[in-house]
Amino acid sequence: MKNPASLLQAAACAACIALASPAHAQFGNILRQLPGNIAIPGVTSAGPAAANSGDVYQLLQQSVESIDEPKEIEIGRQLAAVLLGSKPLHPDAALQRYVNRLGRWISLHSDRPQLPWTFGVLDDPGFNAFAAPGGYVFVTKGLVDSVDEAELAGILAHEITHVTEKHHLRALSAKARSGLATQLIASQLRNNVGGVISAQMLALGKNLYSSGLDQADEFASDRQGVALAARAGFDPYGLPAVLQQLRTAAPDNPLFSLTLSTHPPAQQRLEQLEVAMGNRLDAHTGKPSVTIPQRVRMR
Ligand SMILES: [Zn+2]
Repeated sequence: MKNPASLLQAAACAACIALASPAHAQFGNILRQLPGNIAIPGVTSAGPAAANSGDVYQLLQQSVESIDEPKEIEIGRQLAAVLLGSKPLHPDAALQRYVNRLGRWISLHSDRPQLPWTFGVLDDPGFNAFAAPGGYVFVTKGLVDSVDEAELAGILAHEITHVTEKHHLRALSAKARSGLATQLIASQLRNNVGGVISAQMLALGKNLYSSGLDQADEFASDRQGVALAARAGFDPYGLPAVLQQLRTAAPDNPLFSLTLSTHPPAQQRLEQLEVAMGNRLDAHTGKPSVTIPQRVRMR
């Protein structure tokens, strides 16, 4: 599967989700090897949380304020299952551990350090990052291969901000209240990573990850992500460096097409960041670049 957009088309395919892949089978193993005994409740097995997937969709149709943290995490678990149903985790356990450590370190400096933060590298050559409510963040292997540590920290901080600010949760709620997916019968699809997931949640997730968030949410995540990366000790210019890379990416390059189509133009994001950052964070710059293979080998 070369085109990242097809990742999401595959997510809609129940047969694809039901298919057990070897990488999925490794998912539980990878999670067990992660530091801090990171576990995704209900993702590795059909736990009690998976039983109320229909309720979750109904909950989304009400106000975001009525969704408490356990429900928010359950919604995120279902969306994580949508993503993992279409693309497996990369089998490199050392890389998964490193990205989890990095992400968890950054999340500790966020406004919601207590969430069960979980980070994963998807086995996909595209250049993409995804977040889901409750603390789930995924980056593609293609992205990890083309950035250094400070740049990855900037991307993770951007995604972490989407979670802490509940951007996806609000977008999902708006879509659910607009009637999207109500035409679907309340059937549940069984998949091998998430227990059960409702057809409505699958449709919502597919729609959200292919259409993207509001531009205002993206700009806010850029601004707050830069500050968060700096608080966690990373060069705040990591994210702007990634945006420079995106700015020069050919729009018809399929590896970048989903990222480019779901985000405001990189030039515009850079301009907004320049206004927000000024030279306030310049004292935090100038750290030597560390490559990710170097860092993974150091462990
Ligand atoms: Zn974003």
